[in-house]
Formats: sequence, structure tokens, C-alpha cells
Amino acid sequence: MNPDHQYAFASDNTAGICPEAWAALQAANSGFLPSYGSDAITQRACEAFRNFFQTPCEVFFVFNGTAANALALASLCQSYHSVICADSAHVETDECGAPEFFSNGSKLILARAEHGRMLPSELRRLSTQRRDLHFPPPRVVSLSQSTELGTVYHPQALVEICDQAHELGMKVHMDGARFFNALAALNVEPAEMTWRAGVDVLCCGGTKLGMAVTEAVVFFDPQLAREFEYRCKQAGQLCSKMRFISAQWLSLLEDGSWRRHATHGNAMAKLLASGLASLPGVSLSQTVEANAVFVQWPEGLKQGLLSRGWRFYDFIGGASRMMCSWATPEAAVHGLLADARELLALSPA
Ligand SMILES: *Cc1c(COP(=O)(O)O)cnc(C)c1O
Repeated sequence: MNPDHQYAFASDNTAGICPEAWAALQAANSGFLPSYGSDAITQRACEAFRNFFQTPCEVFFVFNGTAANALALASLCQSYHSVICADSAHVETDECGAPEFFSNGSKLILARAEHGRMLPSELRRLSTQRRDLHFPPPRVVSLSQSTELGTVYHPQALVEICDQAHELGMKVHMDGARFFNALAALNVEPAEMTWRAGVDVLCCGGTKLGMAVTEAVVFFDPQLAREFEYRCKQAGQLCSKMRFISAQWLSLLEDGSWRRHATHGNAMAKLLASGLASLPGVSLSQTVEANAVFVQWPEGLKQGLLSRGWRFYDFIGGASRMMCSWATPEAAVHGLLADARELLALSPA
């Protein structure tokens, strides 16, 4: 087994920068252009988003997903409001309180979820359980697409949640750190999975797709974007050499390579999952709908793989999470499966 292939599964952000993003960085690296997003490349990238979503959305580029989520949520809330999210949501479990910090105290309220997907019945329950002055009223629903458990919301499910949210006076935020994996998996129009379903603000993930340090915050209601640039600047999230961020977006959206990369990550996850599921004593704890595989296996097998240099870790619910990305070589999938068969004393597949 080539050791270069051994470390691919801990996360989709252990991968490097994809060739299209790298080429875009290189191509943007000549001459002098206005800074802070006043350049022509950035204007074209914003236009590319409007074509992609087929609507006049407002787009802002930041460095990472935590900032994108926290600033987007802060823009939808007063400090005395609250945000409903799944109990497994990244905004709750992995952002060190950034949403609460940037919103000056908006509380996150945890909804029950099944396989990472928020149960629609939770919206009414959580937004009507308390109506008194002593509890912060919910104003936002935050959904992750794809979810932290590698599942996706189908457009009809999004419509159901968004309709309820709006009826109850709430806006809908989508954490799309893995938006493109969901989009490729569902094979629907970008509009259908966002504003047509009722999503108000999308945090659109570039980094896990294969770019260097960028996420886009997309407001489908331009009114909601008012003064958002000040939030970005104050939070230290306004890139001065913006062309290097926007050039990557322009390239991947216009040449369609976003779809190839997301599709590849999803396909590698499916391949890995079907190989693992065929091993005795191994089971998948989630259906594989995007680029994540959650696996439960004998402790000896898990430790054996770790000691052979494979990298992955235990995640929500105690299962091991294996992530695939644009860069996951098929040889790594086969290599891990071959090692697993050897550790289980099975003949090669
Ligand atoms: C990775 C990820 C993010 C963004 O995390 P950063 O490390 O701050 O870029 C946000 N949401 C989800 C669901 C993620 O998996």
C-alpha cells in the first residue's frame, strides 16, 4: 500500500487544493487590482453565483465555515432571539460558541433529529413551548445540507421545514459546508435546493469542495444582506486580496468542476461503504447519501487499521466517520478494504 494513500479519511478538509482552484489562484496572480472585493474578478464571481442560483442574490466571501455560519445567523437575529438547530449541528457542536458570540448572545435551541435531519414537528414544538418574556423567541431555523451524519434533505423535506418556519415567523439558514455534495447527490437545480424551497441564507462551502480557505455567504433576500459587509470586516473576515478567493469560485462555478469533485467524493464514499458493509461484523450506522461513511466495527479491526496508519476518528454516536473528497484516490479505498480483509483473516476480495 502506498503510504501516500493512507491518510485520506479523517475529514474532507485533509485534502489539498483542487487543480482548478490552484490554476485560478495562479491566473489571478498577475498585475495590480483593487483590494477588498472592488476588483472585476470578484464582481464576476458574484455574477456567477447569480447565474448558478438563477436569482439576484447577494454574495459575500469569508475565510471559513464557522465565520460564515456565525455571521449569517447574527444577521438574522437580535441578541435576545434564538436559533433552532439539530442537536448534531456543527453550529452547536463544533464552533466554540461563535454563533452565540457574534450574535451577542442568541441562544441555540436543540431540535431532535433522525439520521442528522431535523424532525419538522420540532419547529412548532420548540417555537411554541414558551411564549413568555423569560425565554428568547426563536427567529431562525438552521439546517445542514448535507447533514453532519452524511445524509441529505430532499427538496420536498426542505419545503416542508421552510414553509413551517416562515409560518412561525422564522428565517431559514442553511449550513452548506458540504452543499455541493448534497447537490450532486440529489441532482437537482441549485435553486430548487435553496431559495425555491424557502432557504433565506446559504453558507456555501468552498473549502471542503477543494478550494483554499473560502466559504460564500449567499443571501437570497437582498434585504437581509443589509450592512453584512460591516459584520465581515469587524469580524476580521474581509479579505484584502479578495481576487484570490473570488477567482476560485468563478472557476469552479463556471467550468462545472464543482460537480465532478462533489460527485467523485460521493462515489468514493459509496464504494467504501459497500466494501465495508460486506465484511463480517461490520455495519454502517447511517445510509450513505453524500461523502461520509459511518461505520461500526469490531474494536480489533478498528485498532488494526489505525495501527496500519489509516486515519479516521469516532464521531457523533460513537461510530467511526470516514470522509471522502475530490482527492480521495480509488486506490486508497481499495487499500483500506484490503487491509481490513487481511486483519479479519479473509482471502483478498
Ligand atoms: C466543516 C464544517 C463547517 C465549517 O467549519 P470551518 O472549520 O470553520 O471551516 C461548518 N459546518 C459543517 C457541517 C462542517 O462540516
